[in-house]
Amino acid sequence: MAKKDYYEVLGLKKGASEQDIKRAYKRLASKHHPDKNQGSKEAEEKFKEIQEAYEVLGDSEKRAMYDQYGHQAFEQGGFGGAGGGFGGFGGGGFGGFEDIFSEMFGGGFGGGSGRRQRVVRGDDLRYDIEITLEEAVKGVKKDIRIQTLAECDTCHGSGAEKGSKVETCPHCHGSGRIRRQQGFFMTEATCPHCHGTGKKIEKPCHTCHGDGRVHKTKNLSVTIPAGVDTGNQLRLSGEGAAGENGAPAGDLYVVIHVREHEIFERDGSNLYCEVPISFTMAALGGEIEVPTLDGKLKLKIPAETQTGKLFRVRGKGVVSARGGYAGDLICRVVVETPVSLNEEQKALLRQLEESLEGKSHHRPQQEGFLDSVKKFFSNLGK
Ligand SMILES: [Zn+2]
Ligand SMILES: [Zn+2]
Repeated sequence: MAKKDYYEVLGLKKGASEQDIKRAYKRLASKHHPDKNQGSKEAEEKFKEIQEAYEVLGDSEKRAMYDQYGHQAFEQGGFGGAGGGFGGFGGGGFGGFEDIFSEMFGGGFGGGSGRRQRVVRGDDLRYDIEITLEEAVKGVKKDIRIQTLAECDTCHGSGAEKGSKVETCPHCHGSGRIRRQQGFFMTEATCPHCHGTGKKIEKPCHTCHGDGRVHKTKNLSVTIPAGVDTGNQLRLSGEGAAGENGAPAGDLYVVIHVREHEIFERDGSNLYCEVPISFTMAALGGEIEVPTLDGKLKLKIPAETQTGKLFRVRGKGVVSARGGYAGDLICRVVVETPVSLNEEQKALLRQLEESLEGKSHHRPQQEGFLDSVKKFFSNLGK
């Protein structure tokens, strides 16, 4: 088929001014724009022709070549975009073209020659799960229930009623996006007619109303690996909400929260616990039992142990989820003050105190403390 003369297409004569070309293009493109001629194949063809003509005549360099060689100038493959009609511009150096275009229509044009259908992946979901420290350390399998959007069983995600047609959305021409000019800026938005799917469903599925998804409660079994800690996340690929119209599902993120433990506090791979000892044991030494996550353990307390002293039990901590060595169990000793004493016991203590009186070497912290107090008050007086 012989190509029409570009000037003719725009209703102009060879020698027309730049202004004339621009004006003619605006007028004709507006008249034949697909948005104004719903479904008219003829208008679409005409529109493409006008565009193609303007791509050449609107560019002084190309126009000069066209004037000299006619259509041949562009048949050598020298101007990739010129013959392509839709979609060829934008990236191809026809800078001014797009601007004029959107200026004219204020949006409403988002089509590309590829008619690429936009895939709207399902949302990612988050599920917060609380587990005990023991479960976190040893790993556990948990059954969870989530509220999610799942693929519609009736239409298998297509959104179309059985036997009904699915067509390309006429508003966005299948791209799912619509461009709008807002003042100076060009913005792109999801097509409100097809919600970004690029498809027009003749008769929507009666179960999901065309969305391809339905609300469902899903039961899942989650394997939580040993060593996890609060804030860790497990990603269950594809277990999030189903995508629109059969698009891939999102992911489910299970966020771990480890409940506070009565005895142990965790810090990374170490476990901490406080162990109360009597003041007699603190003074004379002895042996106590300390808890670990897998049973009890004997711990030697040396004589003259003070409150706050830390005892490290190697390898009785936690192996992190990333692997490696187990951390330690760190026991902090707290010397208990005896309570509910009877008269006899009180008397014994007084007796003990008298025997210690005035002998500072029985009280290792006392001397240093008194010195500090003295210094403090003398500094205040200055
Ligand atoms: Zn359905
Ligand atoms: Zn659309």
